[in-house]
Amino acid sequence: MFNQNARIEKSAGKYGVVSNLMYHFKNLIRWEPGLFWTGILLPVPLAISNIAGNYLPALIVKGLEENWEFGYYLASILALLIGIWLCNTLFGLGETYCEEGNILYRRHYMMPYMEKRMSVDYEKLEEKEFQDNSGIAYTAIFNGRGIRQAIYNLPCCIAQLIPAIVYGVLLARISVWILVLVCISAVIQVKLLAWARRKHSEAQPILSDQAKKLEYITTQTMDPSAGKDIRLYQMAEWIMNRYEKTLDAMNKKFDEVHIWYFRRNFTDTVLNLVQNGIVYLYLIYLVTQGTLSISEFVLYFGFCNSFATLSFQSLRELLHIGIISNTFSGIREFFETPDHRNGDAALPKEQVEAFKKQAATVELRDVSFSYPGSEQPIISHMNLTITAGEKLAIIGLNGAGKTTLVKLICGFYTPSEGEILFNGVNIECFERRQYYSLVSVLFQDYVLLPITVRENISSLPADRTDENKMLRAMERADFLERYEKLPNKGDSLLGREINENAVDFSGGEKQKLLLSRALYKEAPLLILDEPTAALDPISENEIYMKYGEATKGRTSIYISHRLSSTRFCDRIILLEDGQIVESGTHDSLMAENGKYANLYELQSQYYKDEEKEKQRRRDMGEEE
Ligand code: ADP
Ligand code: MG
Repeated sequence: MFNQNARIEKSAGKYGVVSNLMYHFKNLIRWEPGLFWTGILLPVPLAISNIAGNYLPALIVKGLEENWEFGYYLASILALLIGIWLCNTLFGLGETYCEEGNILYRRHYMMPYMEKRMSVDYEKLEEKEFQDNSGIAYTAIFNGRGIRQAIYNLPCCIAQLIPAIVYGVLLARISVWILVLVCISAVIQVKLLAWARRKHSEAQPILSDQAKKLEYITTQTMDPSAGKDIRLYQMAEWIMNRYEKTLDAMNKKFDEVHIWYFRRNFTDTVLNLVQNGIVYLYLIYLVTQGTLSISEFVLYFGFCNSFATLSFQSLRELLHIGIISNTFSGIREFFETPDHRNGDAALPKEQVEAFKKQAATVELRDVSFSYPGSEQPIISHMNLTITAGEKLAIIGLNGAGKTTLVKLICGFYTPSEGEILFNGVNIECFERRQYYSLVSVLFQDYVLLPITVRENISSLPADRTDENKMLRAMERADFLERYEKLPNKGDSLLGREINENAVDFSGGEKQKLLLSRALYKEAPLLILDEPTAALDPISENEIYMKYGEATKGRTSIYISHRLSSTRFCDRIILLEDGQIVESGTHDSLMAENGKYANLYELQSQYYKDEEKEKQRRRDMGEEE
């Protein structure tokens, strides 16, 4: 997803070149003024050193020609040499500063980039367009060429343009035709280069596709979870084969690209030969006519050469302007992704604080929802009121739409139709962070950060964590016992990938830690979306019963595809194809003898068999 160099180089962004350069320079002067001024001044020493460098050989010849006094002759040469050296040193310093500065400058985009990715409306995260934009901006900011070119190559382009203009004017004085000849040759050279590069960028999608494949294969071989299957199912041979084939294909494509560069280089040398030949002949002709002295011959020949090189180089740098422009366009477009849930609409602070202290009421009014790009409604015309303090179970088979419903209630998605009310207020009316502060959810997929246990539970820095509140949450989540055994208690670090002495928890322990976090938040609405799906059904039932105890006085929603886990709830609703098909208590639903009762019988039969099997194994173990 993140290698978007080819796209930055090819596709034009939304904004034009001038607008993007303005954006860049405005930011640069605001964030890194030193870098801005270095860029402005950098061309000066380079231009001086270049012009002086061209005068040097002519000066040497001229001194000999005119029989200068030796001391004066030597001093002139030395002065010029020192001047050139000084200018080059200055330029070198500026260049190094620009090189380092490009990282400084990038940092100003990195932080907002990360922030944007974490704060953008959740539903955006799954959108292809947002993912693409995000990938382009990532490459542009973190490793793309555009920023470096804007900081460094742009001033260099100007640095080359200044002496080129000086030489052009001087050359025009002796012959306009020579100037025209050199210009044409420079344009042809740049055209050839652009042409070779176009061929290269045409091949780029194929090359990056192959690079992606290689990267995928490489990461697979490093991934411990894939490592098990690779070893057991002897996938190594297949993987090596695929790798080699991809490498071969890549090399072939590279060869094709290199041929174009070779052709371009060859034409280049021929062109240079012809151009220099003509210039040489013409200048020699002028010398024989007495129009030029030998020193002037040397000088003008130098001018001509430098003019050719510099005009080619500055034109070549100008080719990059597209990349620079697309880079900033990509960054701007990404930052401009609208956050409609982060808008001005917000409830008064006191009202939200009051909401935090009471169990929540949630009401769904005729809510329908289908995922973007899909016609199929996952939730259709749902009406549901969850009263304050109620324990509601949502039951349904895999794919029934339970998690989608939770995400809708969380405000991650906007209903396609209907509305969701929290304590009578449409959740669209909350500022997003306000609303998130009212809901606690345990998802199947979760993130524990590689920070301390304490910080994970409170989601706050250590010194702002309420220790008593944390202990209480852990006790209710049945995590306290494990916590007491931790060598560093709340200071124990998680995340073995980053922290050397990190602690590791089993799946069940992680669930309890996560529940501690959910309880610490003391949100008026708690939702558990099958956090226990990886555990066996008996323990899910036990854990849910405990959760039931822990969440007393709070409105809570329990989700499961195992019917036995949620018998203790005040109300159970059965979800099928995005609709509530049955609703009642466990007993009333069993008495109804409908779908719920059917499923319940089926599942409990299965669990009974499983229990019997376990018992049988235990018995056999005793006999042995
Ligand atoms: P449950 O939690 O009941 O197992 P989900 O709510 O996760 O079911 O999924 C319901 C349906 O929505 C499934 O058919 C699933 O394929 C689809 N679905 C889930 N997430 C997405 C998504 N991000 N984009 C498109 N379809 C999705
Ligand atoms: Mg689910």
